[in-house]
Amino acid sequence: MSEEVKGRISVETENIFPIIKKWLYSEKDIFLRELVSNACDAIAKLKKISLSEEFEGGTDYRIDLNFDQNERILTIQDNGIGMSEEEVHKYINQIAFSGAEEFVKKYQGEGDKPEIIGHFGLGFYSCFMVSSKVRIETKSYRKGSQPVVWESESGTEFTIKPGETTERGTKISLFLDGDSGEYLDPWKLKELVRKYCDFLPVPIYVKEEKANKQTPLWSEQPSSVKKEQYDDFYKYLFPFAEDPLFHVHLNVDYPFKLQGILYFPRLKHELDANRMGIKLYCNHVFVSDEAKELVPQFLTVLQGTLDIPDLPLNVSRSYLQNDPLVKKISSHIVKKVSDKLQEEFKRDPDEFRKNWDEISLFVKYGLMTDEKFYESAKDLIFFRSSNGDLTKLEDYVERNKEKNLGKIYYAGEAELSSVYMDLLKSQGLEAVLVDSRIDSHFLQFLEGKNADWKFQRVDSELADQVLDKEASPDLADSENKTIEDRLKEIFSKAVGREGVEIKTEALKAEDVPSVILLPEHLRRIAEMGQFYGQKSSELLKTHTLLINRKSKLVKNILSLSKGLHPEKAEKLARSVYDLALLGAKLLSEEELSAMVRRQRDLLEQLSSD
Ligand code: ADP
Ligand code: MG
Repeated sequence: MSEEVKGRISVETENIFPIIKKWLYSEKDIFLRELVSNACDAIAKLKKISLSEEFEGGTDYRIDLNFDQNERILTIQDNGIGMSEEEVHKYINQIAFSGAEEFVKKYQGEGDKPEIIGHFGLGFYSCFMVSSKVRIETKSYRKGSQPVVWESESGTEFTIKPGETTERGTKISLFLDGDSGEYLDPWKLKELVRKYCDFLPVPIYVKEEKANKQTPLWSEQPSSVKKEQYDDFYKYLFPFAEDPLFHVHLNVDYPFKLQGILYFPRLKHELDANRMGIKLYCNHVFVSDEAKELVPQFLTVLQGTLDIPDLPLNVSRSYLQNDPLVKKISSHIVKKVSDKLQEEFKRDPDEFRKNWDEISLFVKYGLMTDEKFYESAKDLIFFRSSNGDLTKLEDYVERNKEKNLGKIYYAGEAELSSVYMDLLKSQGLEAVLVDSRIDSHFLQFLEGKNADWKFQRVDSELADQVLDKEASPDLADSENKTIEDRLKEIFSKAVGREGVEIKTEALKAEDVPSVILLPEHLRRIAEMGQFYGQKSSELLKTHTLLINRKSKLVKNILSLSKGLHPEKAEKLARSVYDLALLGAKLLSEEELSAMVRRQRDLLEQLSSD
């Protein structure tokens, strides 16, 4: 070739333009990703060839981004494999077959790492999103090869002529169109390199300044990476985050390719579903900030990187969810994460317990939402026990089998020092503590999973052991009334409203005159209500007032009512009810002030008697 030749690109190539136009407004930046990844491919190819063939020029491989503000030209230059005239025709003008694919078929051996990115996104032609004219100057690595210049203004018509360059490799000049001046800015270019090409294995310079980091830790063999390296890498990815709890290094070659590092962040608060912690890569090239389609929702709280070379990138996101490869990858990740939790627990149970508060939300949420995760992590359910330790749920059940008669007592932080806990503890019984809002759902979930797990809040019913079975029976008196009948009369008058059921029992603890019991189901509805932001106080007005007929105070009230001071008995009964409400933390602000007034009256009376 000694003169200029004009031509039209192949029909197949023309078809790519409508697609490119569609992307134009949403993700214009990706043209840079495409050109830099091609440049990186060109160098990877040459490195491969260098093992078997001789070539011209040095081995100081690099990619350079430069621009000329006045001319509005942006150049992307590599010293890779370059192209002959024939190759330009084949790979640029007839895009029907991808040069990368052909190269891989020819050179890639079995078991090689996938070093060539190829078939990445929209490819070379995406540069017409930002250019009014594109020029390729290229010279092949082969000895004595002729340089070529390819130029096109439309993308569909081109000219090709002999070039003058003496340097091996390819330089692509973009004559930026009127809307694309933003790329004539070193900051913008560095930002894009860092975003998309940070981990490419070739140094990338923006105006002579190196802009990429260059070591994708996830591609290393897990056995060769030290803990500090994992920590440093995390800090590099998430500069403002606290140290992670632990990490999972994924490294799969077969039956699919997957590499990545996922970190467990410290989760102090509620799960933040909108957090975007997993960065998705394709052969080290950044693709997306979200991995929603790749991991089940509970795992989106993890942070780190996933590199999946075979992921179909240009198909719709909703399609991805049904992709068999994506499904396989997703369940692999779930498995690895639960394995890791098991491993961490075995490695250092104390440390694991220490971290439990921070991973419990995530684990519980995972158990509830992912069947596979449940299967592999179900023995990692811990609760804090009222005796102070963190206990495995199954251990609690085992320990208390005889005593609790199949029940798992539970209490909120607030009930820990309540009369209910005192009653249980006095009989050597133990309760598990629930704390986060997710727990009301979680208990319900666990009950559905295992018929042996029946949760009962400490204030919903008294344990059998607390009751005095030997107490003398409540027989009817001369007026044919039992103690229960009489106490009901007194207390229903004192309570003075509907919705409170009055019962009597003989408790072993004689110093406790009465307690309030809240039916388990009402408590749960109320908790759910709180979860969804409703008021629960109305619901909790329906409760049982349980009166201890062995209590001295109650006995006194009974005899006062029969004697000369029935009004005194009623006041005392009301006080007993107030105290029970107080113990159950069921008093509203107004009720509390009303109670204080009643107590004042009572004390006044007591002092003047
Ligand atoms: P793909 O990368 O999937 O092959 P592209 O449209 O990005 O598709 O590139 C088409 C082909 O053009 C490449 O496979 C390669 O053969 C050739 N090519 C593009 N850029 C370069 C470059 N900088 N150096 C050498 N060859 C290149
Ligand atoms: Mg490409």
